[in-house]
Amino acid sequence: MKKPVLILLLFLIYCTRQASGQRDFSDSQITKLVLLGTGNPNPSPDHSGPALALVVNDNPYIIDFGPGLIRRAARLSPSYGGDLSGLEARNLKTAFLTHLHSDHTAGYPDLILTPWVMGRDAPLEVYGPLGTGSMTEHILEAYREDIRYRVYGDEPANDLGWRVNWHEIEKEGEIYRDSQVVVEAFPVTHGTWPNAWGFRFTTPDRVIVVSGDCRPSPKVEEYASGADILVHEVYSQAGFENRTEDWKAYHRMHHTSAPEVAGIARTARPGKLVLYHILFWGSTDTELLEEIQAVYKGPVFVGRDLDIY
Ligand SMILES: [Zn+2]
Ligand SMILES: [Zn+2]
Repeated sequence: MKKPVLILLLFLIYCTRQASGQRDFSDSQITKLVLLGTGNPNPSPDHSGPALALVVNDNPYIIDFGPGLIRRAARLSPSYGGDLSGLEARNLKTAFLTHLHSDHTAGYPDLILTPWVMGRDAPLEVYGPLGTGSMTEHILEAYREDIRYRVYGDEPANDLGWRVNWHEIEKEGEIYRDSQVVVEAFPVTHGTWPNAWGFRFTTPDRVIVVSGDCRPSPKVEEYASGADILVHEVYSQAGFENRTEDWKAYHRMHHTSAPEVAGIARTARPGKLVLYHILFWGSTDTELLEEIQAVYKGPVFVGRDLDIY
């Protein structure tokens, strides 16, 4: 292809990206963190259920299974015009789960079944809290007829890709290692939920920490100290003030306000603070940022679905 034609083509692709609202803040060719869903239990059409994809040298790792994750991942895959081949559904083989709340697991059957239907020919490897095994076995039981029909019917389906090897996290520390990433789990406080974890991912060139769902937790500060990216959940303090007293009590125990996240970032000093699992309650991006920046002056991003960091 002639050089001017190539430049024009790249420019058009860039314009399309901008028009579609795609935001790419990544500065690594090796490690890409994709926000598949920045939402929570509220079914906002603009905020898919909580889910992230870490893509390291094209190898994908999924973190949490909020509803919509497979279609969000498909958006950035070459099959649907994207350029992250790791996010082709059939390539999704390794996944990590912070806790079993429904907003983080309603997409689990999708993660088990859709990549298999699209050709995944190896079991899904899932690392999650105690109870992951029971949830997995019950999902497989619920879809037994679908699996049977695909494997033994006329569909050219393999008999491996629907299977799940689950691994339950029992203690803090390293839970996974391969040639691309080391994953450590650390406990976080999420009300009285007994098994909620945050994760630290160390890739060849980046350290990324994910809070999961939690109220301010000392372990997050400890693990995020000096990390390149801290992805943290958040709620708007202004929005919180308008909640009923019973909801206020719930959120105070389970989640982290914007000023509290700012305090954590001020101690941990991550290269980037990325907000997800955002409870806006009527606040805008700008108002949420102002709540953070009143306390913390470092780089902070209000995450949107399909952002890349
Ligand atoms: Zn949640
Ligand atoms: Zn939760």
